[in-house]
Amino acid sequence: MDLTAHHISDSELSRYGFIGEPGDDNMRVKALLRQQLDPQTGWRCLIRNMERYSRIQKSTVNVRGIDVILTLNETRAASVNAQTFEAGATKRAESQCFLCQPDEAQRGILTLNHRYLILINPGITIPGDLTIASVSHRPQVIADSFSDMIALARRLTSYSIFYNGAMAGASIPHFHFQAGLKNSLIGEEQISQLLEGLEVGCAQSVLLHQSPTGQIYWIKDFSRATYLIRSKDREDLEYLFNTFSNFLIEVDKEIVNIPHIPDFGSYIEAMDILESEPRMNLMLKYDPLTAEYLLAIFPKISNRPTAYFRSPEDQIIVGIAIKESLGNLICCRWSDYQRLQQSPELTAQMYRDTSINDGMMEQLNRRLTALESV
Ligand SMILES: [Zn+2]
Repeated sequence: MDLTAHHISDSELSRYGFIGEPGDDNMRVKALLRQQLDPQTGWRCLIRNMERYSRIQKSTVNVRGIDVILTLNETRAASVNAQTFEAGATKRAESQCFLCQPDEAQRGILTLNHRYLILINPGITIPGDLTIASVSHRPQVIADSFSDMIALARRLTSYSIFYNGAMAGASIPHFHFQAGLKNSLIGEEQISQLLEGLEVGCAQSVLLHQSPTGQIYWIKDFSRATYLIRSKDREDLEYLFNTFSNFLIEVDKEIVNIPHIPDFGSYIEAMDILESEPRMNLMLKYDPLTAEYLLAIFPKISNRPTAYFRSPEDQIIVGIAIKESLGNLICCRWSDYQRLQQSPELTAQMYRDTSINDGMMEQLNRRLTALESV
């Protein structure tokens, strides 16, 4: 099954305001959103979810000095409830893959030499959220596709590009990125402030590695394990990301015998492969004014905190993936929302449960500090 049949042409998009240059995917995406929300020709599922989105509840919770946005948002229920990569899940044939079986009215924009289709994400964290799917079914493993993430950040300059590893919060085994309008999530703002040397609670950025064209930072005391790579050089960014990933694989080998969490390197039923990539959530953005890339890496143990595995009456259904790592916590049940609102310490615990622990961070920091400039 190939997704190219769902491509919407520039001439169709011109009816929805696309007057941009052929290479301008930012303008195309704006027009695509208008088309998909058109009551006559659009995608009913998205239109329905936009109505639901108008009723979401939101509050700010201060978690050990760091503000986190808590939302009650049922449009994200499919992702929050997904058990695709959890123990007991079974291999999904392509015929059962959500991305291989789009609705007829679901349209998208082909990009990067027709290898990806940009779709509007029906699970709405911020209106305009995107899913960027490989046109053909392949496993959710970024190894050979990080350069595609860079290329997408270069094309979609209005957006931050997101990636959730299969064992770190992805809900679909079909290779995909997500994207959200730049700087819409509170964590993005906080990261910018930290890089400017401003205070965010007691968090601070610590420079671990400096090369002629790039830097690696660790964000200390940010509730969740967070690393940043900043560079103006595409090749250097790739080198630093690959180096970081290789170090993280070594550290992830400590993920063994943790209740409810698969050991690192285990067989992944949903994709029929052995786990080979470090567990992480990624955000990448490119600033055309400064020509600089900023990559945020959140190293994880799992996307599910221990509260998820409690008995039904005490269970909290949440998953910590990239949006949550960027400070936007999503609940789909009123009871979960209320509990998290009343007890910020629960959120602190969920970040602790799902991030790599202090010992693993120390190991990673030692390796990154010892990294020679090239
Ligand atoms: Zn698929």
